[in-house]
Amino acid sequence: RHYNFCAGPAALPESVLKRAQAEMLDYQGRGLSVMEMSHRSDDFIAIAEQSEADFRALLGIPDNYKVLFLQGGASLQFSMLPMNLLGRGGSANFVHTGIWGKKALAEINHLGLPHHLAASSESNGHTAVPPHEAIVLSDDAAYLHFTANETIGGLAFDYTPNAQRRDGTDVPLVCDMSSSILSAPLDVSQYGIIYAGAQKNIGPAGLTLVIVRDDLLDQAQSPIPSLFHYRGIAEAKSMVNTPPTYAWYLAGLVFQWLKDDIGGLVEMEAINQRKADKLYGAIDASDFYANPIATPNRSRMNVPFVLADSALDSAFLAEADNAGLLNLKGHRSVGGMRASLYNAVSEDAVDALIAFMADFEQRRG
Ligand code: PLP
Repeated sequence: RHYNFCAGPAALPESVLKRAQAEMLDYQGRGLSVMEMSHRSDDFIAIAEQSEADFRALLGIPDNYKVLFLQGGASLQFSMLPMNLLGRGGSANFVHTGIWGKKALAEINHLGLPHHLAASSESNGHTAVPPHEAIVLSDDAAYLHFTANETIGGLAFDYTPNAQRRDGTDVPLVCDMSSSILSAPLDVSQYGIIYAGAQKNIGPAGLTLVIVRDDLLDQAQSPIPSLFHYRGIAEAKSMVNTPPTYAWYLAGLVFQWLKDDIGGLVEMEAINQRKADKLYGAIDASDFYANPIATPNRSRMNVPFVLADSALDSAFLAEADNAGLLNLKGHRSVGGMRASLYNAVSEDAVDALIAFMADFEQRRG
């Protein structure tokens, strides 16, 4: 296997893939694959419950939150969120720090629902998140949405925004954590809703996790499609219809890996910090590579960088590929390079990338 720096669907822990492979044809002596089981069978219910229990344990999710296992990607939440949270009026407030936040804003605009831009980093080209005091909520704010880690720009919040109106009323804080969830410990109680597409730190594509505080289950617009209603989904234990069973099972294996092999999120964060420090250190030490993000907001998960001469981009990518370093091309909207260093990307992978970058610079720089 090669080193995979893909932004998503991303690398999975090799031990998880091996276990899935061992159980692929015959899950624990039952004579069938998890893919072939009824989602209502005792075996699958046990898989689903264990997966949720491990996810809750990893993040220390309080009892007054539900965890929903959904389809539709993180993108579907861009519309499910306002449909579930604006039923009592008010507007959705946004902090815009990059392309994913912009897409969330575009979707609420498309739905014609009230919204307000509480702060944006557009003026600095999304190279630094807005300072805390720059976030000003509208007087009718129903919730504040932000993107913890902008996957394309490599811009991450280094603080948790305070979701408070000027009159001192607290509103729910809603966070897109698609590309940073499970990379470090988290105080879930600071949030109303956290959501994430699975295909980075959770498991394969096709699954989306939503962590929702109980009091937010009853604020939906009416009518709302039943497959979009958080309360109905929670009551049906994420089985209103057939859930993505195999992705759910694989996510469960990733949670077990995080708990048993890594030791938990404190340990995971230390590893992720080391990986990111090494790569940013190598970029900063060179005149050939550059990353534009303000140091406190540099993402530990997605490290975009450019070469001093963009005419060398295609040679860099081709040679990296030949060296077994895959998927380093930056997002099509920004160009350059991007190394995604999600949980399953090992320190060895980062060391190999840094060695390749130094060698390329020496030969071509
Ligand atoms: N939000 C963020 C921060 C992302 O990185 C992505 C995908 O890369 C999305 C949302 C969209 O996720 P999905 O493709 O699951 O809809």
